[in-house]
Amino acid sequence: MSSLLEVKDLVIKFGLRTGDVTATTGVSFTIEKGEKLGLVGESGAGKSVTGFSIIVLISKPGYVADGHILFKGTDLTKISSEEMRNIRGNRISMIFQDPMMTLNPVLTIGTQMTETLLAHNPKMSMKEASEIALEKLRKVHIPSPEKRLEQYPHEFSGGMRQRIIIAIALITDPEIIIADEPTTALDVTIQAEIMDLISELCETEDMGFILITHDLAVVASVTENIAVMYAGRIVEKGRTRDVIDNPQHPYTKGLIKALPEGAKGSNRLNQIKGMMPTLTNIPDGCAFNPRCPYVMDICKTDEPSLIQVKGMDTQAACFLCKEEVFTNE
Ligand code: SF4
Repeated sequence: MSSLLEVKDLVIKFGLRTGDVTATTGVSFTIEKGEKLGLVGESGAGKSVTGFSIIVLISKPGYVADGHILFKGTDLTKISSEEMRNIRGNRISMIFQDPMMTLNPVLTIGTQMTETLLAHNPKMSMKEASEIALEKLRKVHIPSPEKRLEQYPHEFSGGMRQRIIIAIALITDPEIIIADEPTTALDVTIQAEIMDLISELCETEDMGFILITHDLAVVASVTENIAVMYAGRIVEKGRTRDVIDNPQHPYTKGLIKALPEGAKGSNRLNQIKGMMPTLTNIPDGCAFNPRCPYVMDICKTDEPSLIQVKGMDTQAACFLCKEEVFTNE
């Protein structure tokens, strides 16, 4: 049976006047119903462009150069724009960082919710659309939802606006929600409330969830599975608990060391030295080699593949990791 979502060997490029540059290479992961996956890495790692590619919304000059994005077996890289419009915002929804960029300030919340629903279901009556909008506001725990439907975005706090965005994302009963840094603009207490809400909804609605974030602590608190990205590649993936407790790739180790006190029991904040390379300046060999405390000669010439680490469920792309060798015996 097909996975809910399977991304296979995804290559995204940007066509520049000086030639194409590669934004992601060989990115592969799957999501099943009710599963929560964290795509984590610093800015420029390729995680957001991967998320946007799933809903075929990479801004030009970006394009999917190779690979497959299979939603319940249908390859989204091969379908027409019309077919994709029926999937985007309907079967797969996206939540963005800043609610004020997503909400229209001059329309009531009720109008924005019903318009979204009617755009995907033109035959639905306004009464039915309003009832569904009300039900979704209740699902995201908005108090007095009848009254709130008549209000404008500026009448809500930041946390409440993000709940509205989630209610809009839910309005068509999607099967997958992709959230790009959904809580970065919120304070820490509200962040935790919103992530708890998303977690609860994934479980009750049996939705797949992809959380795109630079914040490993948020991924650790919400997701079951994790893919760590660096310079357009997945450098480590596995069960979130395994990766956080026993990271294999030096980049993941650096991210964990950089967690603030309390997030992983560390009492120091250690930033990873150096910067993520730009797309036009990816080093030869392992892209992490200029920042890696364990760099060897081979790392400067050869690129490590993502391998199954011996004795673990984790995969990592580092020459220091020993590969599990599977035999047929
Ligand atoms: Fe560091 Fe080499 Fe491993 Fe890359 S392959 S992470 S440079 S040890």
